[in-house]
Amino acid sequence: MGFIVGIDGTAGSGKGTVTKKISNKLGLINIDTGSTYRCVALAALRENAIVDGNIDNKKIIKLLDKISIEIKNSKLGDKIYLNGEDVTTRIREKDVTQVVSPVSAIKEVRYKMVDLQRKMAEGKDVIMEGRDICTYVFPNADIKIYLDAAETERAKRRLLEMQEKGIKMTYEEVLDNIRKRDYNDKNKEIGALKLAPDSIVIDTTNMNIEEVENKIIQIIKEKRK
Ligand code: C5P
Repeated sequence: MGFIVGIDGTAGSGKGTVTKKISNKLGLINIDTGSTYRCVALAALRENAIVDGNIDNKKIIKLLDKISIEIKNSKLGDKIYLNGEDVTTRIREKDVTQVVSPVSAIKEVRYKMVDLQRKMAEGKDVIMEGRDICTYVFPNADIKIYLDAAETERAKRRLLEMQEKGIKMTYEEVLDNIRKRDYNDKNKEIGALKLAPDSIVIDTTNMNIEEVENKIIQIIKEKRK
């Protein structure tokens, strides 16, 4: 088994950015588990398994057999492929973001994605970010981190990220989405966002990305000594 760093946390806590930077610096494979759920949500939207916010669980479960997801790491930016198509930007858009949390709560979706995530990590040195990495996907991860920040700060960060990607959303929409996702993510039957008893908690509200990055790198280096 390789070396596993698990980074769980709330939406907008800085997980994605920090994980990417650390993966580049330390040469760890970056597995963004949220992107796997986003791919399922996108496939569901395209196949009309979600119409006007109504989710057809049975249709989504059937779809799972027709979906292949791949993550390709690169220093220039990771790419996510859904059935061979590059959907890296598409899965960050508003329609996917609005439905991904309930889609990820479907038991069958979780089993399939967790299986895929474990296979992606097999025998490698990885840094994995998500919600249930330290509690469910890899409960024996070598390092367990839980990132959080005040919801208003998280909404500000997400809004900026959206603007940089040219995705139009208002601050209120982003905040509302973050609140809903927090609620859904913490109340899932399986794979809920929970703090593992042995996770190190980092509140990033008043920290910049570099500070968070350095703190985690220090923890990793200590452990790898
Ligand atoms: O991290 P990101 O915002 O891309 O994740 C999208 C959604 O996927 C989250 O809101 C959460 O509902 C779900 N997710 C999950 N378990 C993970 C990672 C993400 O349920 N390990």
